[in-house]
Amino acid sequence: MNKAMASHTATIALNSQNVHYGHLILVNRLHPIRWQTDDSILLDRMRLIDGAHNNVMLENTCAKMLGKLLKACGAEQDIVPVSGFRSKAEQEKIYADSLQENGAEFTRQFVAYPNTSEHQTGLAIDVAEKQAEIDFICPSFPDHGVCQTFKQRASQYGFIKRYAKEKQQLTGISDEPWHFRYVGYPHAALMEKMGLCLEEYIEYLKQYEWSGAHLYADGQSIEIYYVKADERVTHIPVVSGATYDISGNNVDGFIVTVFHQERRDG
Ligand SMILES: [Zn+2]
Repeated sequence: MNKAMASHTATIALNSQNVHYGHLILVNRLHPIRWQTDDSILLDRMRLIDGAHNNVMLENTCAKMLGKLLKACGAEQDIVPVSGFRSKAEQEKIYADSLQENGAEFTRQFVAYPNTSEHQTGLAIDVAEKQAEIDFICPSFPDHGVCQTFKQRASQYGFIKRYAKEKQQLTGISDEPWHFRYVGYPHAALMEKMGLCLEEYIEYLKQYEWSGAHLYADGQSIEIYYVKADERVTHIPVVSGATYDISGNNVDGFIVTVFHQERRDG
């Protein structure tokens, strides 16, 4: 099987800077955002959605899939987006304001340091149960009703609850029931099934190199493998004729997701 597939292999050459882009980038204190561009260039890839306080901006696919998830949960009237994309300047202001208003300990637990916030990627969304008053930093997102349905279905739409109490040592952030990160399907579902946070999952995928065994999801219909980045240009083998996504991991390489069958979006 592998040999037969190898004969249909094409190679894509990517500038290794692309390690810092894509739906699977790991962003935390150890792996800050390393975009070479100004925030404004990102705006091309974003779209505006209605939010609790103001409009919320999200990366295109993330916005589209959030809309589908809310619809599937029948939650369009009951769950509201609170905070999505933030520029570096906005994250700096939120951090500084929180230090003043809430003190250092609270801020360290709940507010990411500028350039270590997933919100700067447009791939993170804070959601709240719709109420008259919604807290901007710690919105209420309970474990019952429509919020619970959202949590149960999120991974099918590519979202993970990013910060769990039991993973705090690895993520550096306290339990945040309201913060969801888009990583795409099937990655979110695999992470949930294996109980891995993004830090662990990125590490886990490294065993599935192109030259060895690959990871499969949905039977054999989705194939996943890892390609370590070379210094300047990385040659990424892909299966020609299939649909695939390539994402950097923001650490040291690329993750390729091959869709052997078109997936319906749920
Ligand atoms: Zn958040």
